[in-house]
Amino acid sequence: MTTQSNDWQMLIDGALVGAKENSEVLNPTTGEVYARVPEAAPDQVDAALAAARRAQRDWGSAAPIERAKVMKRIASLVREQAEELARIVVSEQGKPILEARGEAAGAAEFFDYFAEFARRIQGEILPSDHPGEQIWIQRVPVGVVAAIIPWNYPLALVSRKVAPAMIAGDTIVLKPHEETPVSALAMARIFEAAGVPKGVVNIVTGTGETVGKQLCTSDGVDLISMTGSVPTGKIIMRNAADRMTPVSLELGGKAPFIVMEDCDLDLAVRSALTSRFMNCGQVCICNERTFVARPVYDEFVERFVAASGKLRIGDPMLETTDIGPKVSREELDKVARYVERARSDGARVLMGGGAPETAPTPGGNWFAPTVLADVLPDMEIMRNEVFGPVIPILPFDDFDAVLETANNSRYGLSAYLFTNDLEKVMRAVADLDFGELYVNRVGPESVQGYHVGYRDSGIGGEDGVHGLDAYLRKKTVYVNTSGRPATALMPYGG
Ligand code: NAD
Repeated sequence: MTTQSNDWQMLIDGALVGAKENSEVLNPTTGEVYARVPEAAPDQVDAALAAARRAQRDWGSAAPIERAKVMKRIASLVREQAEELARIVVSEQGKPILEARGEAAGAAEFFDYFAEFARRIQGEILPSDHPGEQIWIQRVPVGVVAAIIPWNYPLALVSRKVAPAMIAGDTIVLKPHEETPVSALAMARIFEAAGVPKGVVNIVTGTGETVGKQLCTSDGVDLISMTGSVPTGKIIMRNAADRMTPVSLELGGKAPFIVMEDCDLDLAVRSALTSRFMNCGQVCICNERTFVARPVYDEFVERFVAASGKLRIGDPMLETTDIGPKVSREELDKVARYVERARSDGARVLMGGGAPETAPTPGGNWFAPTVLADVLPDMEIMRNEVFGPVIPILPFDDFDAVLETANNSRYGLSAYLFTNDLEKVMRAVADLDFGELYVNRVGPESVQGYHVGYRDSGIGGEDGVHGLDAYLRKKTVYVNTSGRPATALMPYGG
């Protein structure tokens, strides 16, 4: 893989191709142009979908173990090129290199993990009401998948969609976010080098409103699997309704992070910090609302602010950096506006609140770790996903009330609880209305788990056995070998 020219190509029908139009990708650390990528023309999107359709029959009927072999080659190539891939992620997305290396490892892991399902996609045989009849339920590929991903994990999310689709026997056309397309295009080179049969995986680039919309509204798409924001998820779902295309939507979150007085406070502070500031706060399962039991509130806040003050904000290529820039100027401005409105709603800024005093680089999208106090549960900062390094910390007096406040959200993806009281753990498991609960630990989620959000956080989910299910359909087969009708037949005059 060479990135010398830093011009990248899409993967359509097994060939690496450019487009008539190109767009520039900016490096969030410097604001400078990092790469040039194609803007897929409508006929190229059509060609990718047609190639996926042509390839699906052979790919879907190949022995799963043969599909797994290709996937293992992809995993090996991702591991071989992990450092280069991690550097691409840093250059286009801005997360610190140590986090980007973790993302590259995850990108390989998805292929290894889903390759294991080669001998595990099973059906069912059901007892029939009629002698001589067999009834079975087979699990068959969905067909052609249109996949749409966001910018916060531009590498790992490619694998999260492509790997389960491949083992299921589906073919796929994937579009990355327009701000971070290079990671996906680097994966396109790996798919080609790994010998993925032509048309099985296609990567097209362009904006959501053009290429994304076309992909999700075309005939010949059997499943839309999208990860991104709630507003975009709703648009995609509305558009999909016209063709009755099934959707799997992994959307935003507003995770509550509840700290009880009996917990290991040191662990809780470090976890709350990591869960808020990793990837500059740009993670769907991030701690977005911290609630601390009143008896330990002051101590928690003091320790949290002290620890936040030690975080090193700067060049994400350095291993010593804890927080890189926000992905884009637009995201930076969005977060700044949230903090301004929180201030005018009455929040007190304990630290940060805007750009750091000294910008690590002149053109970067810098935002300092920001801690807010005197926040009330009904303020905007507590209701909408901020997706940046900003944390409101609220005291609470009553466990039942805090569970209710935590649940009172349109989002329902992840929730955290720190306590050593087993009764409280079991109460929270029963009563916290979220798809994912973390007790005394932070994310990330595990590949064998099920990453699923309730309410506005999505429909369907990813990872593990249940995530794979979205990429498969069920087919029921009745076979009568008795020589007699299995059910009453109409009279036949002939
Ligand atoms: P976004 O919704 O702006 O964009 C997501 C993708 O949708 C992009 O590729 C974009 O080009 C595309 N798109 C935009 N309009 C479209 C349209 N009309 N038709 C088809 N595609 C369209 O989201 P983002 O800002 O890239 O990502 C951040 C969001 O993603 C946050 O809300 C975050 O919580 C969420 N997220 C969720 C998960 C999860 O697993 N639940 C994981 C990561 C990120």
